[in-house]
Amino acid sequence: MKIYLNGKIIACVGDITLEDVDAIVNAANSSLLGGGGVDGAIHRVGGIKILEECKKIRQTVYPDGLPTGQAVVTTGGNLKAKYVIHTVGPIWYGGKKNEDQLLANAYLNSIKEAENLGVKKIAFPAISTGVYGFPKDRAARIVSNVLREYFKGEHKVELIKLVFFNEEDYDIFIKNAEF
Ligand code: ADP
Repeated sequence: MKIYLNGKIIACVGDITLEDVDAIVNAANSSLLGGGGVDGAIHRVGGIKILEECKKIRQTVYPDGLPTGQAVVTTGGNLKAKYVIHTVGPIWYGGKKNEDQLLANAYLNSIKEAENLGVKKIAFPAISTGVYGFPKDRAARIVSNVLREYFKGEHKVELIKLVFFNEEDYDIFIKNAEF
């Protein structure tokens, strides 16, 4: 575990579905109807209520799916976390399709949703670095810069945990983060 910015950010290894925070962020896909990786794990542990609310979001505000970089909220269902914030990270196409900005947007819009909920402690998985193929070292630089800037300004969220699924991903983050 590594602590940054006076305890405002914690990077650690773990399973995000077990996190005891107010809200966890899901690296969803734009369908919001579930997928593999962390998305599958969150739906499995959180239960059917999450999917039901995702379907409702598809029927109302986002009939064509959640655009990349945007975020929406559902219940946490059976999770310890009260809420799940679903965001869609960019698929890596080589770096010329605005992937960096879209990754930053996914983090920032998720934080915005947490602020709207009035919650203080949230946890993120390493968005886009799984099947979406975003380079992990590059993601570490982007995410650390986005979060550093967020905590520099007025901020309502007090703790952000970055939960890596394995030691290797965690190490890449620690080596490349620019806090
Ligand atoms: P994306 O499609 O955004 O790349 P993935 O779910 O494929 O999303 O991967 C995002 C990251 O989440 C990967 O680094 C993967 O190892 C990690 N991951 C998968 N399951 C979990 C989990 N239960 N808790 C935390 N991280 C997880």
